[in-house]
Amino acid sequence: MSSLPKCPQCSSEYTYEDGNMFVCPECAHEWSKDAADSTEQQKVIRDAFGNELKDGDAVTVIKDLKVKGSSLVVKMGTKVKSIRLVDGDHDIDCKIDGIGAMQLKSEFVKKA
Ligand SMILES: [Zn+2]
Repeated sequence: MSSLPKCPQCSSEYTYEDGNMFVCPECAHEWSKDAADSTEQQKVIRDAFGNELKDGDAVTVIKDLKVKGSSLVVKMGTKVKSIRLVDGDHDIDCKIDGIGAMQLKSEFVKKA
């Protein structure tokens, strides 16, 4: 199986693995496998139980959450439909009945 990526610096195909790094023998460039992975794959966002979340999923809130800047609380057990994954501290964009558009943290939800 040759899944080695080309050198991002000089495009050499003669890269090899060294522990957790890829190394290019032609220009001596070294880069980490983790970094290579994250540029090719989308970040995986998981719920509190490790289930992968996707755009359009429905989730359940597993903890009472205060809504920033208001006195509203999203109650534990609230169902949220059609989430949208976003980058950032709060990684879920959604709309909750009675509350409106808000952002949640994936660690406080469970895939429904
Ligand atoms: Zn190179």
